[in-house]
Amino acid sequence: MNKQEIIQLLKVKGKERTALLKRSQETRLKEVGNKVYFRGLVEFSNICAKDCLYCGIRKGNEKVVRYEVTDEEILESCRFAWENKFASVVLQSGELSSPAFVNRVDNLLKKIKQISNNELGITLSCGEQSKETYLRWKESGAHRYLLRIESSNKELYYKIHPQNQQHNFENRLEALQSLKEIGYQVGTGVMVGLPFQTYDDLANDLLFFKKLDIDMCGMGPYLEHEDTPLYKHRHLLKTKQERFDLALNMIAVLRLLMPDINIAAATALQAIDPAGREKALAIGANIIMPNLTPTAYREEYQLYENKPCLDEDAELCRNCLEARINMSGNEIGYGEWGDSKHFYKRKKS
Ligand code: SAM
Ligand code: SF4
Repeated sequence: MNKQEIIQLLKVKGKERTALLKRSQETRLKEVGNKVYFRGLVEFSNICAKDCLYCGIRKGNEKVVRYEVTDEEILESCRFAWENKFASVVLQSGELSSPAFVNRVDNLLKKIKQISNNELGITLSCGEQSKETYLRWKESGAHRYLLRIESSNKELYYKIHPQNQQHNFENRLEALQSLKEIGYQVGTGVMVGLPFQTYDDLANDLLFFKKLDIDMCGMGPYLEHEDTPLYKHRHLLKTKQERFDLALNMIAVLRLLMPDINIAAATALQAIDPAGREKALAIGANIIMPNLTPTAYREEYQLYENKPCLDEDAELCRNCLEARINMSGNEIGYGEWGDSKHFYKRKKS
């Protein structure tokens, strides 16, 4: 597919769109099967040194009450995941690089492996770190890493981030490269429907994923947050429904471009449509991240407005998801890591 063909597909409506979504789901079933894999998500700290212009927990937002989930609570959430056969967890946080933070994550990784008989798979999503830190965390048990590029267009990147050394586009690219070199399964992604973003940008994002040869992807709609600088451009935004539809089109085209990667049904989809994540699973996504963050902390991890499931505890969340996923014709891969097939093919070649 060339760029023009991708742009055309991203714009489809009506019958053509139905055909695109169907083709994507068929490709998914053929290449990675009908299983949906759970990654229990623990948002273990909202303390962040960065100031991304779109994010509700950016350092500059003084309205946020900062928290750190205790080690015991994190381990309890992980134990829940393990006992309920989720098979994997994702530890996500704001971005810090202090030795205390790096050591804390390192210790948590070792403890999670210990309490789960070495069985829980661990994905990290803790932002840009040095190559040494990524290596250390890999040796302590993490094997997947999520670091969205947010936009592969450098100009757009600097419209949604402050222009300074701490938010440097090249550093982000380098971090993704380091993760690959170290041997992580690497996931990236973008927000869909950002102010200033064009179809050309989105097509380039998809081609960027292909060129980087990623193993996993998480893409969701951009959602505005009142207490962020990007909010002032909200008049430029597509409607929420349009952003939602476009995010699904992005997932579908990506499934056609990279048939054997893991694609997550992002939580932001659910902020627009209560069945948003299941809709993504029905058209090509195969990963879902049930929220296992202790409910007491969730109010303060609001990246965007209307973040769903703020008061739903892990048990409720699991039951609700199970019913919805089964209804959508998919099967939950309980007890299986559900690693990216693409990663193993990439390693072999
Ligand atoms: N701090 C780490 C990082 O930035 O990679 C991980 C946590 S960060 C909150 C996870 C993702 O949330 C980001 O990659 C970004 O794409 C997404 N996000 C932040 N603000 C958002 C918004 N307003 N709408 C949609 N997604 C958002
Ligand atoms: Fe911090 Fe990540 Fe939010 Fe940026 S997106 S402000 S790094 S939590």
